[in-house]
Amino acid sequence: MKLVIASNNAHKIEEIKKILKGKFDEMYSLAEMGIDCDPVEDGDTFLANALIKVNEIAKHTPYAVLGDDTGLCVDALGGAPGVYSARYAGNHDSAENRKKLLFELRNESNRNAYFETCVALRYPDGTIITALGRVDGTILTEERGNGGFGYDCLFYSTELGKTFGECTAEDKHTVSHRGRALRNLLEKL
Ligand code: IMP
Repeated sequence: MKLVIASNNAHKIEEIKKILKGKFDEMYSLAEMGIDCDPVEDGDTFLANALIKVNEIAKHTPYAVLGDDTGLCVDALGGAPGVYSARYAGNHDSAENRKKLLFELRNESNRNAYFETCVALRYPDGTIITALGRVDGTILTEERGNGGFGYDCLFYSTELGKTFGECTAEDKHTVSHRGRALRNLLEKL
């Protein structure tokens, strides 16, 4: 099966291609397919946004489409930023988002948080299969590590004993929200 990954985020595309290596005949990013489309993610849930992405991109390709929507949910912030993770500080800037998160948590001792991913695979006939993945951890008081992207350098994975910014991509995938969601999806296929 040929697959288009419904994302314009180069980091995310690289992760998905690595995790799904060998599982699909061919995998293409939107850029590789020449699809210039940035769906408006205005759903209330990760599932709603993942569906928006695959249904929108499916209008531009005869291939199957895989979409992922992810967010960071922080206990002390009532689950925020959640579906607003990308635009938390208002402008889709990851460094600004991390800065705002540290500010909002400045007086908080409960730093528990989790990443959640919803993935959706849409077949050319319109059938859609979805799966969830989650990883628990804590938000540090300062950034650690230069790897990863988004909130990775603030997210300390309890299972790995380090931040997602400090570990290798392979280590991240073994426990990460995206790794788990994609493995759950593969089990359903
Ligand atoms: P989206 O799923 O592309 O809408 O991403 C939502 C927000 O979460 C963006 O700010 C991303 O940078 C961030 N994000 C998504 N996946 C990850 C991840 O694996 N690690 C850290 N941040 C992420």
